[in-house]
Amino acid sequence: MHAVVIGGGINGLCSAWYLKNQGWEVTLLEKSDLQDNCSYGNLGMIVPSHFVPLASPGIVWQGIKWMFDSSSPFYIKPSLNPTLLSWAWKFNQHATKSNVDYSAPFLRDLNVYSKSLYEDLCNEPGFDFAMEKKGILMYFKTPKTAEEEIHLAEKARSLGLDAAYLDKAAVQALEPQVELDILGAVHYRCDAHLYPGKLMQQLISALRKAGVTILTQSPVTRIERKGKSITTVVTPQGVYTADRYVMTGGSWLPELAAQAGIRIPLMPGKGYSFTLDNPLQQLNIPAILCEARVAITPMDGKMRYGGTMEIAPINDLVRMNRVQAIVDAVPRYFPGLQVETPQKKDVWYGFRPCSPDGLPYIGYAKGTDNLIIAGGHSMMGLSLGPATGKLVSDLAMGHSPAIPIEAFRADRY
Ligand SMILES: Cc1cc2nc3c(=O)[nH]c(=O)nc-3n(C[C@H](O)[C@H](O)[C@H](O)COP(=O)(O)OP(=O)(O)OC[C@H]3O[C@@H](n4cnc5c(N)ncnc54)[C@H](O)[C@@H]3O)c2cc1C
Repeated sequence: MHAVVIGGGINGLCSAWYLKNQGWEVTLLEKSDLQDNCSYGNLGMIVPSHFVPLASPGIVWQGIKWMFDSSSPFYIKPSLNPTLLSWAWKFNQHATKSNVDYSAPFLRDLNVYSKSLYEDLCNEPGFDFAMEKKGILMYFKTPKTAEEEIHLAEKARSLGLDAAYLDKAAVQALEPQVELDILGAVHYRCDAHLYPGKLMQQLISALRKAGVTILTQSPVTRIERKGKSITTVVTPQGVYTADRYVMTGGSWLPELAAQAGIRIPLMPGKGYSFTLDNPLQQLNIPAILCEARVAITPMDGKMRYGGTMEIAPINDLVRMNRVQAIVDAVPRYFPGLQVETPQKKDVWYGFRPCSPDGLPYIGYAKGTDNLIIAGGHSMMGLSLGPATGKLVSDLAMGHSPAIPIEAFRADRY
């Protein structure tokens, strides 16, 4: 059996990995040189703690308030772009308590499953991607955020996740080398982190070694379909035929799917990061600064800072005011941790593929019998990559998945 995987982000590579492990012949088509995409410069957090989808109560009002501040951490660029308007309308409909209650167990299971697959992957020959299981700390400064975060931690515990409220002294014991200006934190001990760049390069090497054909500079420009079946995918270099086609593509998924006559609602959520290779001070445990919506991850001796979510069409603008907002947030929580503003050339950006209900798409595309969609993972695609890849291979094989996946149906819109 032969599979063609489109896109070499974490979801494409993991799909290729698990299909190959099941004995499939796999060809992966990637439009770039595979040296960078959203799966490289992210914060590397493995997050069972993220059981609340982006579409949740309060976010829409917050987004409207922040719409007029382009340095805000969550920013929907005001626009009459019909794709954005249609996405925003759906997003608004899903930003409810019932969406959160429905989604939470599915996201928890997918994340917990993925973490266990990462643990297995760590033990495979050729893999050492600096995975550490120290959890993440959600820091808060204000009583209002403390109340929200403690409530969320209770919900996490009711879902079986290991989460504990820590006062400032308890946090200080975990991070003795940095000065803190906080009220406290929630420690999600269920979480982990890794170094995404290493993981991606090791996956690419392992796939090549296992005999997967990886074709870079090969953008899929046409998809031919007969009735329910995709018949070929076309790049400027060639025409490819397979038993199953797996479409990843990250934030480019809507335009890829449109080539097969399929509509997938999705908007890019641009975020920035920068990495200090030799930081003067290190954190022990990855941090999320809740009010500022900034994340910091110590990874393999480096420190990566990142954040912001700008819902807008794909663009190559580096807005330094947004990067500055990340830099400025750090000393408000860690007064001794002075971070210099990076030069523009050292700022990385990527586009989180955001579905309107905050859930990924994992399943057969509407009206097709050989096209599997794997995308829309928003702010947790790195975390969910292995589970997504394994589920793709289960779907291709006709095997029952290890966890419930009906919430992720790719034909739900
Ligand atoms: C600042 C920031 C921090 C983040 N932190 C975390 C984190 O800590 N934990 C976490 O879990 N997630 C995090 N994320 C989110 C995560 O990075 C994404 O969800 C994930 O990388 C998406 O992976 P993907 O494989 O779906 O897409 P991508 O990584 O974008 O890959 C898609 C690939 O498809 C290719 N492609 C597109 N169109 C075509 C075509 N026509 N033909 C061939 N190839 C094509 C693209 O070139 C690209 O290589 C973060 C994101 C950002 C921006």
